[in-house]
Amino acid sequence: MRCEVCGDEIRGQPHRKVIEGGRLTVCGRCAGFGSGEWSPNMPPRRTRGDPSPPRRPRSEVEATEGLELIEDYGATIRKARQKMRLNVEDFSRMIKEKESVVKKLEQENLNPDRKLIRKLENALNVILLEASTPTAVPVSRKASSGRTLGDILKQSQTEEEDDEG
Ligand SMILES: [Zn+2]
Repeated sequence: MRCEVCGDEIRGQPHRKVIEGGRLTVCGRCAGFGSGEWSPNMPPRRTRGDPSPPRRPRSEVEATEGLELIEDYGATIRKARQKMRLNVEDFSRMIKEKESVVKKLEQENLNPDRKLIRKLENALNVILLEASTPTAVPVSRKASSGRTLGDILKQSQTEEEDDEG
């Protein structure tokens, strides 16, 4: 093994020294240049801009669950189908589904499962899933009172008016 600083053959134990930010294996003479030591067992420090972060914050499953059907998926399917000059019959044959399934989908009377959604997306070259947006209004509060803030305000106003009369 050779010293990475002076290039001389290292006799005895090599010194692992951090010199100017780099990890070098150096001889005893050059060991004095180091600002610190490093261990070969230590994983290399990740620099900023590393293309592969060590851990993804969201797993594949979570990412999929965060998606939901777009609001006008029925119209999207119908428009895309018409763009391809396919009638319901042709299209249903193309995706190997029943005509009634396609009709229900376009009327939004049927919630397609993930498999069907993917099939439709691929066949029609459309996007039917979007990232679900968390609702600003907490559901629990609305459910417990059974009325919205607007209703409560309206009611209190009505009560005030009643008091005057
Ligand atoms: Zn050296």
